[in-house]
Amino acid sequence: LIEIRDIRRDFPLGSEIVKVLKGIDLDIDKGEYIAIMGPSGSGKSTLMNLLGCLDTPTSGSYILNGRDVSQMLDDELADVRNTEIGFVFQTFNLLPRTTALDNVALPMVYAGKSKSVRHARAAEVLKDVGLADRMDHKPNQLSGGQRQRVAVGRALVNKPSIILADEPTGNLDSKTGVEIMALFDEIHAAGNTVILVTHEEEIADYAHRVIRLRDGIIESDERTK
Ligand code: ATP
Ligand code: MG
Repeated sequence: LIEIRDIRRDFPLGSEIVKVLKGIDLDIDKGEYIAIMGPSGSGKSTLMNLLGCLDTPTSGSYILNGRDVSQMLDDELADVRNTEIGFVFQTFNLLPRTTALDNVALPMVYAGKSKSVRHARAAEVLKDVGLADRMDHKPNQLSGGQRQRVAVGRALVNKPSIILADEPTGNLDSKTGVEIMALFDEIHAAGNTVILVTHEEEIADYAHRVIRLRDGIIESDERTK
């Protein structure tokens, strides 16, 4: 599903160049359940943004589903992102004035689906994430855990090849975090590929493979289940 070869990502900073990812090799199969860990600043989010086609590498190749996405231009990349990737953020990133249903339906607008198809599919997904009775609520009328469920629903709605989540439990209390992880377990059990970043060993324990970054390189990569 994913083949990454010697990926590097540099950022210009004033007159300097900051080398953040310093040569990452990574193969990920369909259906894997992966936790990425490592100290703050080790490059986890930078790697997730590359995996999620929100950014492209300075050098190296990234083959996703047989296509090299490392050289793609913005339009083409946006297309891949919309069809192949579901991204969940620590801070939910929902549209504040928009209902749960329309937040979940939004990626299908970009995919060109009709309104009736969008609403039917969004309602189905909200049911799957346990929010059948919250479809017309706006984000500020939902709890943190419910907001994250909406964000997970939005990530799933176009049936992407990979679900990426950057510290999805980082803004939740531990009980709510466990509920969100139970949801990721279900999503994985349904056949999805799940890759998440976490600082917490208890969260990483849900995954079947743990990759540790340090200072822009992979320090360890272990199958844990
Ligand atoms: P955290 O656990 O705190 O979220 P992280 O492992 O996700 O950390 P990244 O956000 O990937 O870390 O950042 C890694 C390093 O890259 C940091 O030192 C950061 O300052 C630097 N960096 C990230 N984005 C940029 C950018 N656009 N320009 C310059 N430096 C950047
Ligand atoms: Mg980060």
